[in-house]
Amino acid sequence: MNLVFKRVFSVWLLMLAVQGGFAQKIYLHCGKVVDVEAGKVLEQQTIVVSGNRIESILPGYTSSAGMAEYIDLKAFTVMPGLIDMHVHLESETKKGGVIERFTLNPPDIAFNSLAFAEATLMTGFTTVRDLGGTGVNIALRNAINRGAVIGPRIFTAGKTIATTGGHGDPTNGMRKDLMSNPGPEDGVINGPEDAYAAVRQRYKEGSDVIKITATGGVLSQAKDGGNPQFTVDEVKAVVSAAKDYGYKVAAHAHGAEGIKRAIKGGVSSIEHGTFMDEEGMQLAKEYGTYLVPTITAGKATADSAKIPGYYTAIVTPKALATGPQIQATFAKAYKYGVKIAFGTDAGVFSHGKNWLEFVYMNEAGMPMMECIQAATKNAATLLGEYDKLGSIRDGKFADVIAVEGSPLTNARDMEKVRFVMKDGKVFKKP
Ligand SMILES: [Zn+2]
Repeated sequence: MNLVFKRVFSVWLLMLAVQGGFAQKIYLHCGKVVDVEAGKVLEQQTIVVSGNRIESILPGYTSSAGMAEYIDLKAFTVMPGLIDMHVHLESETKKGGVIERFTLNPPDIAFNSLAFAEATLMTGFTTVRDLGGTGVNIALRNAINRGAVIGPRIFTAGKTIATTGGHGDPTNGMRKDLMSNPGPEDGVINGPEDAYAAVRQRYKEGSDVIKITATGGVLSQAKDGGNPQFTVDEVKAVVSAAKDYGYKVAAHAHGAEGIKRAIKGGVSSIEHGTFMDEEGMQLAKEYGTYLVPTITAGKATADSAKIPGYYTAIVTPKALATGPQIQATFAKAYKYGVKIAFGTDAGVFSHGKNWLEFVYMNEAGMPMMECIQAATKNAATLLGEYDKLGSIRDGKFADVIAVEGSPLTNARDMEKVRFVMKDGKVFKKP
């Protein structure tokens, strides 16, 4: 037995040595590097990447004694790969798109999602949190992780958790004989007992995070876009069940009452936060709850609602009333000192335009350095992954992007991502 163990162990050691010794290093020569931890920009730095990790950051444009690949990023501003905390990679908005609930099979959704995932990565978002779909988002995460398809790292909620008739009840707006009575397995709960069943079902399916819909929503086929749809006890039950599995809970919430209930229930983030009042902001500060603003989604849905027939009659007035409010609330919450993590709700608008959120956040009074921190450091912290992601530091995953122009003074330059590295692999070269 002992001999067998020794032989296995020495083969394993040999494999480690081969991997370590022969991994060709990549040297990134960076004109500017955003140090999101210090909130500073460093000039003329070399980032050394070994395998999928950042090995070191050295001053000046240094080179290697051995074999190495060099990438010239001297003309660019280099920063950690961006993180969008709120996307839906399974779908993308289109006029009359509501019909797709009845026409698309899971494989159709899967094929569609490939282009959305690729567009997201190529525009500099190396990590996303997918906050709800049919469950295809779990298969997509797995396919990306094994290198079968191109896309960002995904932390996915799988299917969201709603209450009966609430935002995220998959049978909302359907003909009565199609409605059936969805339960915890389908992400619909009523009462704390159901909450446990629903969270455990998400665990069984392979989710990474739990998403609840604490209030009505704009794009559901239901009348109210902001009414509270969970009791505090239901939220608490979800959060406590989630804790058993190491999950954080994200709460979609527009209305002021639902926002407060979600915060009191212990969720980690409020998504949208459209009608958050001062009491809600105070609570968010007290509980350390993040706001993930999704201003882009608000603006995009309000614009789409002006196109006749884009949404159904029940959705249009909600989009017109809710959308334009998000940016103003974000401005207040930011000033109030609520913690902000970057998130867009991409899918509600075109994937790959996630950068627009920088423009709207900056417009609302947040300096660009803080916007970039919200999309790196803060987002990684909210994910619980700041030890691996969200800054350019020795030992972290090599997720690095380079932007042309002056992204620290001109938010619109965040569109000009010219280099993308994820997990040490180059996906876009200048
Ligand atoms: Zn969403």
